[in-house]
Amino acid sequence: MTKQSRILPEYDLDFEVVNRIPWFREELLAWFDSQGRSFPWREQGRTAYEVLVAEILLQRTTAAKVAWAYNAFLDRYPSWNALVQVSSENLQEYLKPLGLWLQKAQVFQSLATAVEERADSLPSSRSELEQLPGIGQYIASAVLLTLYNQPEPLVDVNMSRVLERFFGSRKLADIRYDPYLQTLSRRIVNSERSLQVNWAILDLGALVCKNGTPLCLQCPLRAKCKFYKQRTLRQVELPIARVAEATTVYVVASSEDVCTSRTSGSTEIVSSPYSDLELSMDDTPMVDAPSTPE
Ligand code: SF4
Repeated sequence: MTKQSRILPEYDLDFEVVNRIPWFREELLAWFDSQGRSFPWREQGRTAYEVLVAEILLQRTTAAKVAWAYNAFLDRYPSWNALVQVSSENLQEYLKPLGLWLQKAQVFQSLATAVEERADSLPSSRSELEQLPGIGQYIASAVLLTLYNQPEPLVDVNMSRVLERFFGSRKLADIRYDPYLQTLSRRIVNSERSLQVNWAILDLGALVCKNGTPLCLQCPLRAKCKFYKQRTLRQVELPIARVAEATTVYVVASSEDVCTSRTSGSTEIVSSPYSDLELSMDDTPMVDAPSTPE
């Protein structure tokens, strides 16, 4: 059966969101240049085979796990043909430590057969890539970005989490078809350093803007982060309710980490007592996410 590649309509982003994109990208790239992770599959000059092997291994497992297995996998199975020749049982056994071994083995072998039928070449359009077995929106984007230098966003649960916390929530449950998230991520990675912007978002999601408890005080983006600002406001407002009878009332001001203190009609600016607190939250559930490489 032919798979349908869905074309999403452009979402009309708020001016306030559009306005923060350049700052987000620049701060993130500066952070990535000193703190970004290096992996063997990020080295320059990787072949189509090496790129696809990495993306399939990374499905629903951590980059750290794949890092130790990647080069060994390429030594053992150096080509599409090697994957066609190996028995399914042997391949599954080898993939066991990485999880989803049955599905990954099936994808490797059916994709290897399909690519061999094309004389080892890969198409360069999304619609054709997504016709190949095991290739969905995320892996097609990774191929277009890495091999064909097209500014495609690698939208997975990690990227989604970072963008939603910084810019605001998505509109639909399924991140692959959310027009807001897809439009926003495309605008963000539309840059001369598209590949690094993508990696920077994924690395920030893995190291700082973590699933569960984001390490906001270590984050280069917190000065303009929506989540951080809202969380800070909530932390400040809580004591207000508890001291309603007190003569001094704290009112949150518009600038970050600052609140005003009104006493007997006068107003003065004071530092927020919560500006040094580590912030945390339960992560928004991600529904029907396509992949989870970190
Ligand atoms: S400030 Fe916190 S919530 Fe915002 S992007 Fe950084 S780590 Fe994530």
